[in-house]
Amino acid sequence: MLVDGHGREVNYLRVSVTERCNFRCQYCMPEKPFSWVPKENLLSFEELFLFIKVAIDEGVNKIRLTGGEPLLREDLDTFVKMIHDYKPEIDLALTSNGFLLEETAQRLKDAGLKRLNISLDSLKPAVAAQIAQKNVLGKVMRGIDRALEVGLGVKINMVPLKGINDNEIIDVLEYCHDKGIKVRFIEYMENAHASADIEGMHGKEILSKIKEKYEIRALGREGASPSFNYIIEELGYEFGLIDPHKHDFCESCNRIRLTAEGHLIPCLYFDEALSIAESVKEGDIQGAAEVLAKVLQDKPKENRWSETLHDEDVSSRAFYQTGG
Ligand code: SAM
Ligand code: SF4
Repeated sequence: MLVDGHGREVNYLRVSVTERCNFRCQYCMPEKPFSWVPKENLLSFEELFLFIKVAIDEGVNKIRLTGGEPLLREDLDTFVKMIHDYKPEIDLALTSNGFLLEETAQRLKDAGLKRLNISLDSLKPAVAAQIAQKNVLGKVMRGIDRALEVGLGVKINMVPLKGINDNEIIDVLEYCHDKGIKVRFIEYMENAHASADIEGMHGKEILSKIKEKYEIRALGREGASPSFNYIIEELGYEFGLIDPHKHDFCESCNRIRLTAEGHLIPCLYFDEALSIAESVKEGDIQGAAEVLAKVLQDKPKENRWSETLHDEDVSSRAFYQTGG
């Protein structure tokens, strides 16, 4: 079992397989980054897998592949299969913008993928295009349908933004209810890479919008999940709210993050990271395990997004590098 320096059990590894993306979401990557990580610095699937095996052997039982857009990495299904075949009981999931899912869902399912979170910020083509800076909605919606058709577990992520998609919170919730899938509303997390002129919504504001139409009841956090769950009794429908600005958000944090170039990141907010690249390139399992132990020991107690924002509450970490 892996335990961090604050006594929290860590059993969840998020792996960003690429920082590149085919969208330019306003809250994440509004401009193409000044420079991408050079291709030669990206770890191969075999190198990433060597670390993943170490993490699984030490107690990780939940892995999520993310990015950038993970489906841009060629043959992602072979990577899924490597992890699945090593330990089929691993809770193996993916987070994607859904754009390439129509073509890839079946292969991912066949390779052993179990679940998928898809970002859907609007049901209006023009608004979706405003956020992603590309005409995306039709393909994303077909991707969602295809994922459901092949039997993947699907959840939807929406980031509500003031004056952009805040009037669609109920529409997205009802769309998800109709499809029988769960939606999680994610508070916008301030970061130095996002467009300066966007403003996120706090959890309370998101809930108020839902309360304009429905009565809701709080259910609580689901284990170590970052999502706080609510139920709309009249629909028998549960949805989630991811609220990193809330003071108790980090108490049960169970995760670490690995980037495509091998940085092991203990917290989404902070810049701190150690590299496992050298170890995995040399096949040094012991070295990789030592980096893992050090990162866990130094994992921060909490992020610095707070309910009352100050200047320092803007993270300089890029979401497209860590995978959110
Ligand atoms: N490209 C994939 C996608 O969009 O789902 C995976 C990577 S993306 C970084 C993972 C998640 O982070 C998405 O649900 C996205 O909406 C969320 N995200 C990105 N930037 C964010 C921000 N500044 N605040 C809150 N959520 C953010
Ligand atoms: Fe790409 Fe996902 Fe970031 Fe949007 S949120 S720019 S889809 S990585």
